[in-house]
Amino acid sequence: MQISLSKAYQLLMSGQVVAVPTETVYGLAASIERPAAIDQIFTLKGRPSNNPLIIHIAKTEQILAYTHSFPKDFMNLAKTFWPGPLTMILPIDPASVPVRACAGLPTAAFRIPHHSLTLALLEWVGPLVMPSANLSGKPSATRREHVEADFGKEFPVVDGGVCGHGVESTIIHYSEKCWQIARLGAIPAEAFESVLGYIPEKVNGDRGTHPICPGQLYRHYAPKARLNLCSDWEQCQGIVLGFSERHYTKARRVLTMGTISCPEQVAESLYALLRQLDVEGIEEACVDLDFPRNGLWATIAERLSKAALHVPLSSEENRVP
Ligand code: AMP
Ligand code: MG
Repeated sequence: MQISLSKAYQLLMSGQVVAVPTETVYGLAASIERPAAIDQIFTLKGRPSNNPLIIHIAKTEQILAYTHSFPKDFMNLAKTFWPGPLTMILPIDPASVPVRACAGLPTAAFRIPHHSLTLALLEWVGPLVMPSANLSGKPSATRREHVEADFGKEFPVVDGGVCGHGVESTIIHYSEKCWQIARLGAIPAEAFESVLGYIPEKVNGDRGTHPICPGQLYRHYAPKARLNLCSDWEQCQGIVLGFSERHYTKARRVLTMGTISCPEQVAESLYALLRQLDVEGIEEACVDLDFPRNGLWATIAERLSKAALHVPLSSEENRVP
């Protein structure tokens, strides 16, 4: 249900959860001052409790309420990419962040989103904790209708239209004297080179042993349909998620992800397309994964690969091997 900004303000201040737009995907927001609302986010999403939330703020200085420990180049990164689709993980003073929001970790994730409606709310309400506004494991929501499909027609949503980037923020953290990518996202790895002097590596955990966040081990972005990944586009068959300029001779039907010349467009409509499979009751589809792996393509390939993991979607069972 579409609500006004002032209604969203009232609901958030009275300890309720509302969905808000960002430039990446819709978020499910609670005031950081309202522990019951934070609990409610986990219940509504069916989110595992070890998957922490991102703390969204309006101004960089607000971080000082949670930490005074800033890794090298933090300010340059903030100046260059905020507001925007960059999330930075920082060590925190544990007493300053509700345990539930940071899943008991000694760190928390911070971001200033680039969306005028949500920035206005952040100015009024203060910091909001939010994950993506989708049921746990499902594709994120990039339109109000997606939020309503997951949480019901009556669920309060500030409608900001279609989310421009369409994929989540890039998450980085500082370890072993350099920034590393904990989650690929809307900002390609190469974009950091001009600020850092190097391209941060994507890592799965500390020296490949412990995951940076256990919650990242869960299944994500997945429609009900079984997705088969195909690295040679000419072999794609059946119902194909493909590119508009390719002629798939073995396809029964082609659902277009966009054009191979514009990864931004592919990212923007990616989750809408995955959700369409569920709406149409499609049980199996072949995904054309025959595209470059640089820039935003790396994020698109990673999302599609995670969406294709064939494991059950219920509660603790949705952990991937
Ligand atoms: P979502 O917005 O639904 O993508 O969820 C927020 C993401 O931020 C999750 O995937 C978490 O893994 C990640 N995250 C939040 N806080 C931390 C943290 N302290 N350490 C590592 N990852 C985090
Ligand atoms: Mg999410």
